[in-house]
Amino acid sequence: MDLNISPEDIAFRDEVRKFLDSAVTDDMRRGVELTTAFINDPEISIDFHKALHKKGWSVPAWPKEYGGTGWSAVQRYIFDTECARYGAPMFNGAGRAMLAPVLMKFGRPDQQEFYLPRIAAGEDHWAQGYSEPGAGSDLASLKTKAESDGDDYIVNGQKIWTTHAHKSNRIFALVRTSSEGKRQEGITFLLIDLDSPGITIRPIVGNGGDHEFNEVFFDNVRVPKSNRVGEENKGWDCAKYLLEFERGGSLQAGRVRAQFTRLVKLIKAHSPDDPDIAVRMAELGTDLDAMEMIDISILSAVQSGGNPGPISSLVKLRWSQVRQQIAELAMDTIGEEALKWVGERPLYETLQLPPDEEELLTQTPRYLNYRAYTIFGGSTEIQTTILSKSMLGL
Ligand SMILES: Cc1cc2nc3c(=O)[nH]c(=O)nc-3n(C[C@H](O)[C@H](O)[C@H](O)COP(=O)(O)OP(=O)(O)OC[C@H]3O[C@@H](n4cnc5c(N)ncnc54)[C@H](O)[C@@H]3O)c2cc1C
Repeated sequence: MDLNISPEDIAFRDEVRKFLDSAVTDDMRRGVELTTAFINDPEISIDFHKALHKKGWSVPAWPKEYGGTGWSAVQRYIFDTECARYGAPMFNGAGRAMLAPVLMKFGRPDQQEFYLPRIAAGEDHWAQGYSEPGAGSDLASLKTKAESDGDDYIVNGQKIWTTHAHKSNRIFALVRTSSEGKRQEGITFLLIDLDSPGITIRPIVGNGGDHEFNEVFFDNVRVPKSNRVGEENKGWDCAKYLLEFERGGSLQAGRVRAQFTRLVKLIKAHSPDDPDIAVRMAELGTDLDAMEMIDISILSAVQSGGNPGPISSLVKLRWSQVRQQIAELAMDTIGEEALKWVGERPLYETLQLPPDEEELLTQTPRYLNYRAYTIFGGSTEIQTTILSKSMLGL
């Protein structure tokens, strides 16, 4: 990995900045800043994604033959950090960063040709149908059933915590196609259109007041067998591969640094002389630098054709903790201002206040929502178990 910034990289950075100057509008930036859920609404990000697509930059991490940019690790790092610095929105990580690598590795050519360009162009918005009531950490106990009926499967069951199912047109889902043998050997990976007859989506409102995730019910939903990725009963391989990208497939440093910069502004305005807060801020800054180095080393591995591997669990775990600590410190910084609460969502539509006051109102919902960082994508206990087995050999 070569991290030296060359004159070509500086020219590239200037090109990125020029692009972002016109592609990131004030409305988008405000939408991102007032998003207290994890993921900004597609309404905020779709125009930016389309502008990226027009420029050929919507899926930079993909291999070139599928529409990626072929950028070096340094260029990808520059691009990500500049996007975060500009407050650019993010579009559909579930499709772009999670499903796409699975399709490239396990999908048939016709699936790759149909779905990948649609993801790159922002035409499809994907949801992830893994968890069920009773199948979260213990994912292999999932029960949503797909029974063979000629050229189709008939799917019955329920998914839960499905982020943005209400904003998506498709879902990739793990379904049970066999109850024989090991539980992992009876699971299949299916691509399902969310407007198929028999699907009901019900909202779940999180503790921070945002409607971000849902329950998804399948009642005799007919899914063509051609929508299966990989072989029947071999979906566990796809599932595990995808989780590596969910946990460690994207650079987080730029986004967390942007969150940290906003924290610094908040501290300057509200608790500039508090030594305890100053110490905690310094510790957080050090953690952020260390994590950024790990991010870059993974980026370099993925760039040269590898997958993130078990270190993705370390990344997932530590970034989640750093984000939560920033949110906690923000709460301690603003003191009783944290008691103010606006219930209506989305805040970018509800609020019409001076920017500083709007910023204050995001802190409590964000703090509450961020508790979930150490749950989704695999909880802290699950990540530490993976790390102890895979990296420490325990
Ligand atoms: C904000 C958010 C968004 C999400 N989005 C999606 C989505 O889009 N699609 C999707 O499929 N899922 C999604 N999830 C679900 C998420 O993947 C699960 O919540 C997660 O896997 C944990 O499962 P669970 O909630 O059933 O908790 P459980 O598995 O019941 O765990 C409860 C507690 O027990 C602990 N525990 C469980 N097993 C062990 C063990 N073996 N050893 C030690 N401790 C253990 C856990 O660490 C946790 O503290 C989302 C969750 C959240 C919070």
